[in-house]
Amino acid sequence: MSLPDFLIDKYKDWKKNFFLKNKELYIELEANGQKPKAMIISCCDSRVDPNKIFNGKPGDYFVHRNVANLVPIYNLNKTENHEITSSIEYAVNSLKIQNIIILGHSSCGGIEYAYQRFSKENLENKQTSLDTWTEPIKTAFNNIDTNLSDKNAIKSLEKMSVVNSLTNLKSYPKINELIIKNKLTLHGLFFDISKGDLSKFNEISNKFDIISY
Ligand SMILES: [Zn+2]
Repeated sequence: MSLPDFLIDKYKDWKKNFFLKNKELYIELEANGQKPKAMIISCCDSRVDPNKIFNGKPGDYFVHRNVANLVPIYNLNKTENHEITSSIEYAVNSLKIQNIIILGHSSCGGIEYAYQRFSKENLENKQTSLDTWTEPIKTAFNNIDTNLSDKNAIKSLEKMSVVNSLTNLKSYPKINELIIKNKLTLHGLFFDISKGDLSKFNEISNKFDIISY
C-alpha cells in the first residue's frame, strides 16, 4: 500500500525547508533529551493545533490529544484510561513539567456528540467506545443552564467541560502536592476557531477571559 502523494510531498517539503534549516536543534534535542515548557491536553480536531497556536518549536510542548480534550477522573482501579494517565504521570514525574494546559475549542464534535446523546431521554444500552470515552462530560452537562437553546448549551458545555477536566486533573497522584509547593500550575484555555481568540479560565470570576493580543 503506497503512502498518498500529498503526504510524501509535504514530508519532502518539511525535510528540505524546515528540518535541514533546523538540523542543529534536532541534534541537540536528540543528545540532551526533551525539556518541554508545558504539557498541553487538546482535542484531536484537525483545526486545533497546539504547536501552531503557541508557535512551538520542536521540543517546546508535550502534547496529549484525545477526543474533546478530556481528563477523566483518576482511575483508582487502573482498569482504563491508561493513555491519559500515563501521559500525565510521565509529564509530572519524568519531565517535571510545571504547567499543564487543558485546551478546549469551539464547535467541538466530541462535545456536541455527548450533548446530543445525554439529551436523549433513553440512552441506548449498547455503548460505543466514543460513548464510554465521552461519559465524563456528563458532570458538566448536568450543570448546564436548562433555559439555553441547544446551540448555546453546547457552547457552554465546551467551556464547562474544560473546567470539569481541570477538577478531575487534581484527582491524579502528586498533582495537588505539586500545586501546593508551587511546582505546578494548571490552566484552562478555550480556543475560538473562526476568531483565533484564546480565553483563559478565571477561577475567581468562574468565567473565561479573552487574552488580548
Ligand atoms: Zn474537539
